[in-house]
Amino acid sequence: MDSKVNRQWRLATRPVGFINESDFEWREETVPTPGEGEILVRNIFLSLDPAIRGWVSEVKSYIPPVAIGEVMRGITIGVVEQSHHADFQAGDIVLGILGWQDYAVSNGAGLTRLPKDPSLPLTVHLGLFGIIGPTAYFGLLDVGKPKAGETLVVSAAAGAVGSLVGQIGKIKGCRVVGIVGTDEKCNWIKETLGFDAAINYRDESVRKHLRKHCPDGIDVFFDNVGGEILDAVLGLINVRARIVICGMISLYNITEPVPGPYNFSSILTQRARAEGFIILDYMNRFQEAYEDLGRWLAEGKIQYRVDVVDGLENAPGAINKLFEGTNKGKLIVKVSEEPSF
Ligand code: NDP
Repeated sequence: MDSKVNRQWRLATRPVGFINESDFEWREETVPTPGEGEILVRNIFLSLDPAIRGWVSEVKSYIPPVAIGEVMRGITIGVVEQSHHADFQAGDIVLGILGWQDYAVSNGAGLTRLPKDPSLPLTVHLGLFGIIGPTAYFGLLDVGKPKAGETLVVSAAAGAVGSLVGQIGKIKGCRVVGIVGTDEKCNWIKETLGFDAAINYRDESVRKHLRKHCPDGIDVFFDNVGGEILDAVLGLINVRARIVICGMISLYNITEPVPGPYNFSSILTQRARAEGFIILDYMNRFQEAYEDLGRWLAEGKIQYRVDVVDGLENAPGAINKLFEGTNKGKLIVKVSEEPSF
């Protein structure tokens, strides 16, 4: 990387359907200079999240859309290269939303200084900590409220969030069934992560296999997908079931309205609760999640995996891995080299 150039991806047009590289513009600008009270950060890793599809659309959401011409929004880990800010020093590692670019100037607002722990890769702060772990932790425990002995079903169960949800469900004593899109993912969640059963929705009738693997019905559904999978689960929920609406990834690229779940009346007949949640509402409680997740990781009770794509130039092309299901774990772009510490 030429250190004198700030390479950037800016949003050029609002995508229709799947995101294309042509929806972004590649720019090379001079590296900005931090003023008084500011720092210059060099991005090392960029997180690619399904939410990006919403951020580039004009639809009303929990956060304003990225404006046309703006540097694309993205969660990053970076190293402070220059500091004129009392709270930061050159060499500090920071997590924040500094966008799809090599360098950013920040006044420190919204940045978290990360611990320098040589025993953990930096990517742990995107794959396990950051927002992914808290999403799984609070979504399952606060919204889903699982009890030992209950049956928990998770969709996108081999993904960053879903794989943690299933493992936390096992720690809490649930029977856990995961729904995924490949046999490799079925094997990984069963053999490595300890799920009780896995269903490949591309090959198998989800409803038929849910019946087989959930003989006592479904008490908690952690949904990352929506659409037909949500519908299949709704048909099998128990009285007082909790449905955690975390994501609806099957709907993020649709260009025409799709029919709502046909089995929605189960919410009424089973006196169930379906509740959406956005992780930003839990930011003041992240430390609670980090403590448990860090302990479970150290005790070998949970695992996570990351899928690292090399090069900022490949960011637009990599996003669709999330929608095609070709990512194996938390999708991350490596922007520049990690400093040694
Ligand atoms: P993942 O690592 O789970 O990657 C996305 C996965 O979704 C893919 O690998 C694919 O797996 C699956 N998928 C994609 N399209 C479809 C489809 N049409 N039908 C079924 N499965 C599909 O991503 P994350 O863990 O980062 O995110 C998971 C979900 O959590 C997303 O919906 C995201 O929006 C949501 N989320 C919500 C947050 C909140 O605050 N509510 C915060 C963070 C994430 P497969 O091969 O199994 O199909």
